[in-house]
Amino acid sequence: MNGLIIQLAYVASAALFIMGLKLLGSAATARKGNTLSAVGMLVAIVAALIDQGIVSYQWIIIGVLVGGLIGAVAARLVQMTSMPEMVALFNGFGGLASLLVGWAALSGDASTFTVITIVLSVLIGGVTFTGSLIAYGKLSETLGSGAIMFRGQQVVNSLIVLGIIGAAVMLSMDPTNTTWLYAVIGLSLLFGIMAVIPIGGADMPVVISLLNSYSGLAACAAGFAINNNILIVAGSLVGASGIILTQIMCKSMNRSLGNVLFSGFGSGVTEATVVEGEIKPISVEDAYYVLEAATNVAIIPGYGMAVAQAQHVVKELCELLEQNGAEVNFGIHPVAGRMPGHMNVLLAEADVPYDQLLEMDEINPRMETVDVAIVIGANDVVNPAAREVESSPIYGMPVINVDTAKTVFVLKRSMASGFAGIENPLFYKENTRMLFGDAKESIGGLIREFS
Ligand code: NDP
Repeated sequence: MNGLIIQLAYVASAALFIMGLKLLGSAATARKGNTLSAVGMLVAIVAALIDQGIVSYQWIIIGVLVGGLIGAVAARLVQMTSMPEMVALFNGFGGLASLLVGWAALSGDASTFTVITIVLSVLIGGVTFTGSLIAYGKLSETLGSGAIMFRGQQVVNSLIVLGIIGAAVMLSMDPTNTTWLYAVIGLSLLFGIMAVIPIGGADMPVVISLLNSYSGLAACAAGFAINNNILIVAGSLVGASGIILTQIMCKSMNRSLGNVLFSGFGSGVTEATVVEGEIKPISVEDAYYVLEAATNVAIIPGYGMAVAQAQHVVKELCELLEQNGAEVNFGIHPVAGRMPGHMNVLLAEADVPYDQLLEMDEINPRMETVDVAIVIGANDVVNPAAREVESSPIYGMPVINVDTAKTVFVLKRSMASGFAGIENPLFYKENTRMLFGDAKESIGGLIREFS
């Protein structure tokens, strides 16, 4: 009876996870989705603790308190711009947890099936852990964001994989010999580092999403190792949603996953963009006169809007433009900013209505009718080299075609490049005016002119 109740609790939490995921699909319902999933996780944890017949909860309670405190403080303190690094760390710790579960599940009399699931949870968990730490280092720029490639890298990687397979086979033949388990653990941790160092530059978002998927697969394997159904279900959901997100991101960069993982994008990228034209700066006052006469305005936010924390003044400017009779829409690129949905989150925080946020495919066909496209701290996602310069490292990546609007204002502080580290011909186009300065200050200036 007890067992039945526990299995029913697992089914209930699985249903909560799935409903939560569904609600997370739209910015309007995402908060509710998050809460539902968290409730599902609480139900799963309580049921699992009862299920395992644990006699002493002392260490579990200490772990929950310490972990919960660290998580709550970190989540409160983290800057919005550092969220991707935080997600990378979460993925990494998820992987480490699965590695430890797999490790603890090994016993001398384990069946071959159990040993295989243990090896998988240790292997994928280990790769996820160190891979995520490297991703964290690259994103926070403590390690430098470029790709690291060296001669013979593929050979070294192949040897590590062969080593892992060899150790796994030996372990399944003799589960009492833990040396083989330690070999799998060590080589997996090494492989995580080797797998992520050759990836750099603009590909990190895809890697984070892929590592998220790995952390789910590791949890799923750990679920099989300890025979826990909800861990299998939750792990599969994370694994599947991570891989779907990875796929969406690859598509928005017009790259294959193989190309992202193995091409070394960002390793001393040879800049082949030859720019023509000249930079034409504009003052806040002159920008105001142009905007005052505009009837159709598109705002394209990017990472710089997050850095400047300009979302609230952007909303204010948007209202002033509308009061002045202009139609205002936002063009949202899927990889603008530093994490999926970054711009949506910031604009939602500033209460910009969802129906004003247009995806790239919706805004691009309308761009020719736009009087002024205001690019706020975006760079790579509006780079026309992706369409025009075949030798550009981002050639083929879909971008928001702001250069086809009648006039383009680019708000940024300098001529510095964006995340991909490449030149942007947009800044030199005939119809582009550069409004130099911190985005929040420049928009503040425009607001003052309007009022
Ligand atoms: P970019 O990184 O290309 O450019 C951001 C621009 O913002 C910079 O050129 C910078 O110029 C400007 N900027 C920075 N601070 C300010 C400020 N205070 N005021 C005004 N401007 C500022 O951003 P995009 O959003 O265009 O592109 C995102 C890039 O990041 C893509 O290459 C994407 O692949 C990558 N990426 C995306 C992730 C995602 O999931 N969304 C995650 C990780 C990477 P200046 O210094 O001159 O002001």
